[in-house]
Amino acid sequence: MDQTKIDALRMQAVPDFKHLINGQHVAASDGATMDVVSPADGTLLTRVAKGTAADMNAAITAARAAFEDRRWAGQPPATRKKVLLKWADLIEANALELAVLGVRDNGTEISMAFRAEPGSAAATIRFYAEALDKLYGEIAPTPPGILGMIHKEPVGVVGAIIPWNFPMMIGAWKMGPALAMGNSVVLKPAETASLSLMRMVELAHEAGLPPGVLNAVTGEGAVVGEAMGLSMDVDALVFTGSGGTGRRLMTYAAQSNLKRVYLELGGKSPNVVFADAPNLDEAAAVAAAGIFRNAGQVCVAGSRLLVEASIHDDFVAAVAKAAKAMRVGDPLKLETQVGAVNSEAQLDANLGFVETAMAEGGNVVTGGTRILQDTGGYYMAPTIVTGVTPDATLAQKEVFGPVLGVTPFETEEEAIGIANSTVYGLAGGVWTANLSRAHRMVAGIRTGVVHVNTYGGPDVAVPMGGVGQSGNGHDKSLHAIDKYINLKTAWIKL
Ligand code: NAD
Repeated sequence: MDQTKIDALRMQAVPDFKHLINGQHVAASDGATMDVVSPADGTLLTRVAKGTAADMNAAITAARAAFEDRRWAGQPPATRKKVLLKWADLIEANALELAVLGVRDNGTEISMAFRAEPGSAAATIRFYAEALDKLYGEIAPTPPGILGMIHKEPVGVVGAIIPWNFPMMIGAWKMGPALAMGNSVVLKPAETASLSLMRMVELAHEAGLPPGVLNAVTGEGAVVGEAMGLSMDVDALVFTGSGGTGRRLMTYAAQSNLKRVYLELGGKSPNVVFADAPNLDEAAAVAAAGIFRNAGQVCVAGSRLLVEASIHDDFVAAVAKAAKAMRVGDPLKLETQVGAVNSEAQLDANLGFVETAMAEGGNVVTGGTRILQDTGGYYMAPTIVTGVTPDATLAQKEVFGPVLGVTPFETEEEAIGIANSTVYGLAGGVWTANLSRAHRMVAGIRTGVVHVNTYGGPDVAVPMGGVGQSGNGHDKSLHAIDKYINLKTAWIKL
């Protein structure tokens, strides 16, 4: 990456974005648009179509038509693979342009966004492209004279609803396996981060994806998202976002056609540090990065730090030192480690959590305030609160911001008890040099992933998903494919 190129790209005017339906750029049916404000400096970047329910239904109709005439599912696997691989190549070829556009839209620091957004999106699309012609059906063990075959068929029209924190990466987690298995997709990007995802959808068409197979409609969740949820013609909904929206999607499914609903929701992930961690300085630096990168707007962020009481004070001091040293600010500067909070509303909510934590007896060790207000952007100092009891608001509710709550513990059993004391179960971490303890902790912590002596970074080869109110179903890995297929049995008398 080169700062000069980034600086040139950030000066480019951003065109208005419209929906992409049936391979065509289409304005909202009533002509309405939404302003796109950059969280980096509060300026107006561009406008996107503010979709109506009719727009969403038009996209679903296009996706259904594409699915029914088998213009995509009916292609030889090698052809589908070629198109998806070309798409991945185009994402990579345009990686810096995509990353800068995305950062101007959502505020993630470019050093992280470049790798996590176009980088990971291209790797994900490629992973499923390469898998699609290696997935076989099954022949069942049957009585003589019977052939029992199990076919894997696409489910039909998949509705994918994406959040604002990593739109391209999370978008690719849904689009990659869905398209690889021959489904049609309708995408609904988040209100405050649609630009890079819409550009990525354009690139899919440049790669040769037939029109109608992948459609994208921008607008408000409560309008276009609801229309998708209530549609009688969407077969599966795949979602990443908040628990509140997840609940609504299940209700929409119940009110309409009982479509499948797969949810990837929030977390309150415990990062557990034992006194016997192999390298406490490294643990402190990684704990800080594990909550503060992307201003805490990471679903798996290690937002609860559980520290063995004997090292509590020294360890908190080390994490605070690492936090204070992190460079917060302009997300388009290569040296920035903590970018902007996505919106002013999110920043206000973060600050509200700090106030509540203090009212409930917590001590702010560092941060706790809005900073760099003169830039016009939304920035918050990395914040550490100690004295957070396991039942405190900061220990129970997801902030989705750069706020770390610290809780001491005495024993392994107590650590597991505290780790499992929320409604969530997305991610966790353990720092110990004791292999047996590491395995006991992996078994004891009820989450979709437990990191040991590291935090964050699992790639597309492993599943990502939560338990409890962190959701169901998995993105990433070959397991994600199960969400996008129907199993059909052929029971044949020979
Ligand atoms: P959100 O639920 O507000 O929005 C997510 C998406 O849902 C957006 O596209 C939005 O427009 C849409 N939406 C909102 N209301 C809707 C409705 N009534 N019907 C249909 N769609 C609707 O969440 P957010 O604020 O964008 O994202 C932050 C949340 O996402 C956090 O809770 C975070 O933990 C979670 N998250 C989870 C993961 C994961 O993999 N588990 C990853 C990233 C973020």
